[in-house]
Amino acid sequence: MIEIDQLNGVKKFRMARSFWGRGVYFTTSYWIDGLVVDTGCAYTVNDLLSALDNLPVRLVINTHCHEDHMGGNAAIQSKYRVKVMVHSPAIPMLTTPRKRHRLHLYRKFMWGYPAPFQASRLGDRVETENHRFEVIHTPGHSADHICLYEATKGWIFTGDAYIGGRDRALRRDYDIWQIIASLKEIAGRDPNVLFPGSGHVRMRPKKEILQKIEYTGYRVDSSDLHILWCHNSRSSKSSSDGISALSSFSGTGSTISACCTSR
Ligand SMILES: [Zn+2]
Repeated sequence: MIEIDQLNGVKKFRMARSFWGRGVYFTTSYWIDGLVVDTGCAYTVNDLLSALDNLPVRLVINTHCHEDHMGGNAAIQSKYRVKVMVHSPAIPMLTTPRKRHRLHLYRKFMWGYPAPFQASRLGDRVETENHRFEVIHTPGHSADHICLYEATKGWIFTGDAYIGGRDRALRRDYDIWQIIASLKEIAGRDPNVLFPGSGHVRMRPKKEILQKIEYTGYRVDSSDLHILWCHNSRSSKSSSDGISALSSFSGTGSTISACCTSR
């Protein structure tokens, strides 16, 4: 299923696999001036292609290479013959995602494996006809994560670098210290509008971002921190987006299980 919204020149596509008419685990794609930022999951490809039907598509950028953000890449690249750009550390994994990026069962079921596509390396800037975007490296949620910042408009496209709400759990491959550093980087731009990879668009979001930093830091520092693992060690070891930082948590006496965050 797909829900379409628009804010100034930005189109928002909110997509999810649906069960009995209800969407579960929504992710978001954006279209701006011929640029598509993230493409949802494998199960929502056809919805996205239909929604883009009357729009020019000249470039695709992934904020990061989790399967719920790049599932439409192959189909869009095939239809429009466009470049798909990602942060360079992700590129080797993308030619054979099924081999190089093994998914836990719930991720296979909710989002599925993306088809292979040809990826190109992102630089520091991206230009469309009417906009110029700064590429900001924002690791933590994943090592290859970037945000796109349009300074003239004050827009920032944050993928999963900013996830609203209070985290009930963290995945094994997150690096919480890098997440905090990346949130500070985003807050430092003092954006007018924050377009997240899920959840609603935020206007003048700096206060919310700072609250998230404070909350996350508090959770890390507090002795009652409970971080819940959702991946068994086998699937985590085989995941190429794995970051070892959470192994540092085990030294703090934290308890870890389950996976999803509130949005
Ligand atoms: Zn993600």
